[in-house]
Amino acid sequence: MSWRLAKHRYAMVGVKCRKCGAAHFPPRMVCMDCGSQDMDKFQFSGNGEILSYTVIHTAPEGFEKQTPYAIALVKLEEGPVVSGHVINKESIEIGKQVSMVFRKLYEDGKAGVINYGFKFEVVE
Ligand SMILES: [Zn+2]
Repeated sequence: MSWRLAKHRYAMVGVKCRKCGAAHFPPRMVCMDCGSQDMDKFQFSGNGEILSYTVIHTAPEGFEKQTPYAIALVKLEEGPVVSGHVINKESIEIGKQVSMVFRKLYEDGKAGVINYGFKFEVVE
């Protein structure tokens, strides 16, 4: 395989209901608001506000190296509430703005697999 791998552009892709306009993340087949199955792919801005957060000191397997880490409940601009890691936990505060970034989530030591996913970064 070439070392010149294409730079993937990550995006926070969910769905938007054609009937009532509600946006959902992660994507789902049926709208939680109106029950419609008429959904379009929808790209979220990744921007939101911290509703609450917890600092985790005892991590599940695979996350040990990262403790303590912060998990925040974030209300996205588009409406849905999602939870995710906050990378700059020293800045975390309820009501602060965050934006989504893609980071390494965890490493599966046995398989050597590195998993990527979204995290949040507090916007100062
Ligand atoms: Zn709907």
